[in-house]
Amino acid sequence: MRYFQPDIETMPLPKLRQLQSERLRRLTAYLYERVPFYKQQLDEAGIRPSDVSGVESLHKLPFTRKHHLRGHYPFGLFAVPQQEVVRIHASSGTTGKPTVVGYTRQDIAVFSEVVARSLVAAGCQPGMKLQNAYGYGLFTGGLGLHYGAELLGMAVIPISGGMTDRQLMLLQDFQPEAISCTPSYAQALAEQLDKRGIGLEKLKLKIAILGAEPWTEAVRQQVEVGLGVDAINIYGLSEIIGPGVSNEDFEEKGSGSYIWEDHFFPEVVDKDTGEPLPEGAFGVLVFTTLTKQAMPLLRYWTNDITSIYYEHSKKRTHIKMGPIRGRSDDMLIIRGVNLFHTQVEEIISYFGHLSPNYQLIVSRNGALDELEVKVEVEPSFHRGLVLAGPWAEAAANNPTLHAMHHELAKKIKDNIGLSMRVSLCEPGSIPRSEGGKLSRVVDLRKK
Ligand code: ADP
Repeated sequence: MRYFQPDIETMPLPKLRQLQSERLRRLTAYLYERVPFYKQQLDEAGIRPSDVSGVESLHKLPFTRKHHLRGHYPFGLFAVPQQEVVRIHASSGTTGKPTVVGYTRQDIAVFSEVVARSLVAAGCQPGMKLQNAYGYGLFTGGLGLHYGAELLGMAVIPISGGMTDRQLMLLQDFQPEAISCTPSYAQALAEQLDKRGIGLEKLKLKIAILGAEPWTEAVRQQVEVGLGVDAINIYGLSEIIGPGVSNEDFEEKGSGSYIWEDHFFPEVVDKDTGEPLPEGAFGVLVFTTLTKQAMPLLRYWTNDITSIYYEHSKKRTHIKMGPIRGRSDDMLIIRGVNLFHTQVEEIISYFGHLSPNYQLIVSRNGALDELEVKVEVEPSFHRGLVLAGPWAEAAANNPTLHAMHHELAKKIKDNIGLSMRVSLCEPGSIPRSEGGKLSRVVDLRKK
């Protein structure tokens, strides 16, 4: 099985555009009629639904932003009567009220369909077992993967997140071929297998479907080696539907994730001006849900930064998106260069003796921005070091640390084009917040 829905996944672009345009026209009229917020938004922009001829008119329509969803908490943007809503999800909402989304039966069918497409792209087949280690609950990950995998004809093991002992037991006893979870949890499982001396020959795992947070090629390598799998990206957000808005194909790993654009029309726009950007340019990803019923959104500003591009003669005609570089609110501008801390993270992750615990400190010296990156060395490497006297001083004289320091500074300069002061430091020495979290960026320029 190469595709879940071959006709749609390989639809010629002109036909796809026609389908999207029809759907957009219908959607605009639907929202204008049913959701007071959208009527007001369109009226204010001086646009009547009949002005929308197709996707080429999309740039004229106003954006929908997260604060609009919050402002209509909980159900103010629903376009159907409550009786037609069969499920409600909400984002984690660590600050304030969560963002609420609703689904009709048809929306759940679309959600399952795009997840089933995603799973086939990831290499899954009917008859395989999926250990679904995404959290079940208000978060869309658990149930989203669950319904999609069932629709495909996989046997779902709905274990949810956490409970590592049990995860490891079921991986050995139930012999699933696939697992879905966050990339960081996949790394944790790989570490535990190694620590407990459980050999990969005890597992049947072949595929890991990973998403819900940004990850890098280095993480992919670690997970692939540690779990003996193909590690495949799945992307999505609850406002648009949940996981399965886009997915990587296992035979095209590393070249981006197909966006299921018959349902979710993507744009990339300038983060400051909102102007649409050409294919391949980096900006904010914006989606219009073309087929949703309960809570469709026009031009939803995801805040995720990436680029989108067509890759011809690949397996599908749909557009691809690159990895998420970060959120538009965490982009730094240093001496005129755009920088995401994940770019530095990617470089650090290739150094075996460095831990993922790092922090960027931005300050200003006169008119000039200055950058320092602090990285804690790996605890196991640290234990093997013979250092005399206070850490910083002794470390400066240690040839291995000295070479690593030099190499990291050079790699950062070569890859990002910015010089940074590098400080290698002792495990645990970068201050953590009360919740134990490490701030990736400390911007002293704002003080
Ligand atoms: P929340 O995390 O706020 O509860 P969601 O679960 O809907 O809400 O999270 C969606 C966000 O998670 C996306 O906007 C994106 O920032 C991030 N995300 C999801 N999948 C990926 C992925 N594969 N790569 C990078 N980031 C991802």
